[in-house]
Amino acid sequence: MTRFCIYCGRSGSRENPIVEGVCLECRIKRRELYVLKNRDIRVDMCKICGSVKIGYKWFSTNSLEEAIDVVVREVISKSLKPLHGVSNLHISGYRLLSSVSWRIFVEITVNGVYGGVEFSVKDRVTVFFSPVKCPRCIMYDSRDFEAVLQIRGYQLSRVEKVVEQEFRRDCRLLRDFIEAIKQSNGVDIFFYSKGAARKLARRLQHRLGGVIYEAFEETGVRSGKQHTRLYIVLKPSR
Ligand SMILES: [Zn+2]
Ligand SMILES: [Zn+2]
Repeated sequence: MTRFCIYCGRSGSRENPIVEGVCLECRIKRRELYVLKNRDIRVDMCKICGSVKIGYKWFSTNSLEEAIDVVVREVISKSLKPLHGVSNLHISGYRLLSSVSWRIFVEITVNGVYGGVEFSVKDRVTVFFSPVKCPRCIMYDSRDFEAVLQIRGYQLSRVEKVVEQEFRRDCRLLRDFIEAIKQSNGVDIFFYSKGAARKLARRLQHRLGGVIYEAFEETGVRSGKQHTRLYIVLKPSR
């Protein structure tokens, strides 16, 4: 164990511990407690419904504040990586500094533990929202989807994992897949074909248990044929 900080020469103390030869205060000054992969964050935001796209998923939000909340939780928090033995790294708070149209300046408070001592530092990120139209709004406009699988009442992380595995296993499912949209108590998965929606519903039922309900909606005549849309609900059996 080094007793003195290689930068400031002070010996370590209870409030200013030394780890790998550097004291906490010097780490803070030198910004060596964590890396934040990206300080300019670009996020697609639907100009109609306000949903934001994180990875391949869309999250519905009701305001710019809610959208920022999703970005802090789902993007910024996950792009923090601790350095030099820092543990329990997390964002403890944030505030909006200012916004210019679709560009928002956010101050985040990052907390963690260094050498057994809790620290708290401020940092800044810029969030750029790109106005787009989300798949759901595109779909509702074009009325193009044939089937929706609505999964309700399961633990969402479990559902996501199983769905991803099934998509990986069967590329024909993925071919007919349009979009998955999180809802407050589950997820809606949109498909171009009824067959794909039914196939996924059966596989999820097999793996998660539960019951399937089907309903049809008539969506008018197209090229001389009556067109219907299939709604499938999968939920745990009581
Ligand atoms: Zn030092
Ligand atoms: Zn939308």
